[in-house]
Amino acid sequence: MRVRVAVNGYGTIGKRVADAVARQSDLELVGVAKTRPSFEAERAIQRGYPLYVAGDAGRADFDVAGLKVAGTVDEMLARADVVVDATPDKVGAANRARYDAANVRAIFQGGEKASVAEVSFNALGNFSAARGKRRVRVVSCNTTGIARAAAVILPRWGAERWDVTLVRRAADPAESKKGPINGIVPSLHIPSHHGPDVQTIFPELAISTAAVVVPTTLMHVHVNHVRLRDSPASAEEFVAAFRATPRFRVFAPWEQADGTPQVMEYGRGRGIGLDDVMENVLWSDGVTVDGRDAYFFQAIHQESVTVPENIDAIRAMFDLAPDGPASIAQTDRALGLTRS
Ligand code: NAD
Repeated sequence: MRVRVAVNGYGTIGKRVADAVARQSDLELVGVAKTRPSFEAERAIQRGYPLYVAGDAGRADFDVAGLKVAGTVDEMLARADVVVDATPDKVGAANRARYDAANVRAIFQGGEKASVAEVSFNALGNFSAARGKRRVRVVSCNTTGIARAAAVILPRWGAERWDVTLVRRAADPAESKKGPINGIVPSLHIPSHHGPDVQTIFPELAISTAAVVVPTTLMHVHVNHVRLRDSPASAEEFVAAFRATPRFRVFAPWEQADGTPQVMEYGRGRGIGLDDVMENVLWSDGVTVDGRDAYFFQAIHQESVTVPENIDAIRAMFDLAPDGPASIAQTDRALGLTRS
């Protein structure tokens, strides 16, 4: 019996999650819901995903566009065991009552408050916390990136204190109404919301985050300084731990991936779909270890990094895998993610 998955909201995250669900042998994509007809709605149909109407849009708009609709969002929910809500920030919370009424489990995204769900989730960080849960929130792209790195660092060396400066992309590539298109805008409140959000996964972690927004659409970059509890023997040992962990891609100097333009070019050529780079990206030359102080950079592809986490969240909720590593391996095999 495959778990039946619905995706409500078919934008940047939703279309990627739908593609990822369709590639898992233990999951069945029962459909996706969109508010309005668009080229993305047409994409869903071309890929064979049943298309449902969400929100106030009349079915008539889809009929006029010649897009075949399978029903309403409530009809989609009636056919699902779990819905992945990938609607814009705060809309997910408004949808929660609808999911409750349909008696369907739900996964929310990082644009929602932590209180929307029973638990906030990261596959490497706290897989087992989502076991059997009915409401799970997959944390945001930046929080996912930091939580994955914490899952490597904390069990090996511990962390007395962690400071992250997040250099954030201004908008996703398809967003033409967001900015800045020139200038650098600091988020003046410290810690930025990312630090407390990481603590929803690692409550004991002493972390402080500061963020600036820059005019790029490609990726976020985190500049990390961790005061460890124990010293790694060398920077090589530190790098090796990341290389040995799934969901990390560590670039060596010979690969000449100097920054986010080259990393995304790597994503374009690798054929896992939508030019995605779902792993945290580190540069081995960008790691410095000085006693108990470790410094490293990581790049995060905001559009795709949380996609495999949504799949693992479903496996945890429905007890489809014995543990986190087994689920992660299964997800990554199906998605074509490689180990660095
Ligand atoms: P998006 O705007 O690209 O897509 C949202 C989709 O939902 C759109 O197609 C929109 O038309 C549709 N929609 C709007 N209202 C709806 C409703 N009531 N019912 C059904 N569909 C509705 O947004 P996104 O970037 O995919 O973000 C979705 C969630 O994922 C947010 O919580 C966001 O914070 C989170 N997230 C986004 C990113 C990112 O960088 N884009 C990264 C990680 C997490």
